[in-house]
Parts: sequence; structure tokens; C-alpha cells
Amino acid sequence: MKPEEMYQCQTSNCGYIYNPEKGDRKGKISKGTQFEALPDDWKCPICGAGKKVFKSLG
Ligand SMILES: [Zn+2]
Repeated sequence: MKPEEMYQCQTSNCGYIYNPEKGDRKGKISKGTQFEALPDDWKCPICGAGKKVFKSLG
């Protein structure tokens, strides 16, 4: 997995990292879904922030 395909939530006290290999079971996102392919209304499973606050690790 390339770091630029991993996206980290930037809100304070969160730090959740979206890993496309794992997907997001809570959000019903299947494994292998790239961050860019997530629905626009997808939210961080930890803090509920939107996609806009996520930044690539690459
Ligand atoms: Zn978060």
C-alpha cells in the first residue's frame, strides 16, 4: 500500500487513517475502495468529520 493512498483525518484528537485495503466496515465501504472513490457524504468513523478534512500521507 502506497502512503499516498492512505488518508488521515486531520481533526484534533482523532488521527484515524483510512486504509483502502481495509475499507470501512462501519460505513459499509468494501475493501479495496480508494479514498477518492468514497461517497461525498462519507464520514470519519471515529469523529464524524467529512472527507475534506482528510489529507494524504504521501
Ligand atoms: Zn476523524
